[in-house]
Amino acid sequence: MTFLVQTNWPMKQIRNFLLSAALIFAAGQLTAESLAPFTLIKAARLLDPRTGNVLSPAAVLIENGKIKEVGAPAKVQAPSGTKVIDLGNATLLPGLIDSHTHLLVDPITPAEAERARHYNGSFLPGLLLAIVESPSKRVLMGAQLAREDLESGITTVRNLGHSGIDGDTELRDAINAGRAPGPRILASGRKLITRGDYIQNLNPALADAILEQEFLLIDGTDRARQAVRQNEFQNVDLIKVAADENLTVPELAAVVEEAHRKHLKVAVHAVDKTSIQTAIDAGADSIEHGNEVTDEQLKQMRDKGMFFDFTPTSYGDFFTKVFQGTIAESLTMRAERLKADERNRQRYNDLAQQVLKSEFVHGFEASDNQLYNNLVQRVLKSGVKFAAGSDMGWYFPGKTRGQASVSRFPVLHQAGMTSLEVIRAITTNAAEMLGWQDRIGSIEPGKFADLIAVAGDPVGDITELERVRFVMKDGSVIKNDLGQ
Ligand SMILES: [Zn+2]
Repeated sequence: MTFLVQTNWPMKQIRNFLLSAALIFAAGQLTAESLAPFTLIKAARLLDPRTGNVLSPAAVLIENGKIKEVGAPAKVQAPSGTKVIDLGNATLLPGLIDSHTHLLVDPITPAEAERARHYNGSFLPGLLLAIVESPSKRVLMGAQLAREDLESGITTVRNLGHSGIDGDTELRDAINAGRAPGPRILASGRKLITRGDYIQNLNPALADAILEQEFLLIDGTDRARQAVRQNEFQNVDLIKVAADENLTVPELAAVVEEAHRKHLKVAVHAVDKTSIQTAIDAGADSIEHGNEVTDEQLKQMRDKGMFFDFTPTSYGDFFTKVFQGTIAESLTMRAERLKADERNRQRYNDLAQQVLKSEFVHGFEASDNQLYNNLVQRVLKSGVKFAAGSDMGWYFPGKTRGQASVSRFPVLHQAGMTSLEVIRAITTNAAEMLGWQDRIGSIEPGKFADLIAVAGDPVGDITELERVRFVMKDGSVIKNDLGQ
């Protein structure tokens, strides 16, 4: 490096030169590694979710991030110099698709007393904080949650709002540019809502400014079209609308027409019967949640080719665990700090135990489970197309975001789906709902090399999905706890 001494460059220029030299060097190394063009993955089994067929043993040849050939190891011809990854006794599956998630929110459930005082539910205090805190902080948290999703086997997500103005589109672009690890993101940008009851009790002098950080208001058909165009300007991949009883069919139809003109699909959050009918009549592409859907509405959806997107977030003991890990945990911690004060320490420990056993937390889950068992049966019977998403936007104590998200898929089996139907809902079906069936969702030549592997048989035990041992995205190994 002596030549530097002979120059008369100012220090800043030298620093910049060294920095760019280091970057070019690093980029060169990266390219050299990713340019080893062929990778061969071998495993005992490969599941095709569409047919349920299992190829055993299996080999997948990958060239430059795409699947080139799939077949029996004896039949797949790998060129010399191919990198071989032998996953032994594992089962290969396509990378998972979480078709409904919120990577840029992570609220902690407030204590019941706090919920009661503010009349705004569990979600809104955390959401409001996310809106008014720094967008830079928010997107960096989103980058962490995206990485955690990928490490759990989710190689594609549809992020449906709650990302600020451009948090999800910027996170998507950063991941695509290799600046941060994460799944492929289809970003919806700001959620379109009516001036209804989504967030109440805001300071009237600031309400619009706060809302516009997170939402685009639909107020008549002109505003509806304008909202779609504003999102298009941010380069979104689809449009998300939250339908409530205030939203009219002409308003939503205007959104759908404007979005379809730009080849963007429209996902509609609709929970009650009226909103679901609005979404059907306006020609939405998918209905998210759909809790109160009737058999007649399912028939209309089937006839129109609309997707039903299950979101079994609260199924099982999910929120019980959240409340236990936040509220009971804080009582236990308080007790620990009272070491010298035996009487009070005991009192706080007793309170924590009461929370763990309380009717409140257990009552919360019972009604949701009942609803979902019934919903899964009726949707399957109707023949409507379906997919599934975690709707994860919660801080879950003790789990990464990826672990919390993936834990929502096996519960669909408890609610009445076969394991294969669950796997389809988050692979082939989801790919079709996203309009990406030519790129992801199955292990076939021409598709992105997004693969996962589990140690056992996921059809025999669907909870294998919660223990993904190998993750590959775009032909790059993200995680491998199985072989060499
Ligand atoms: Zn959602």
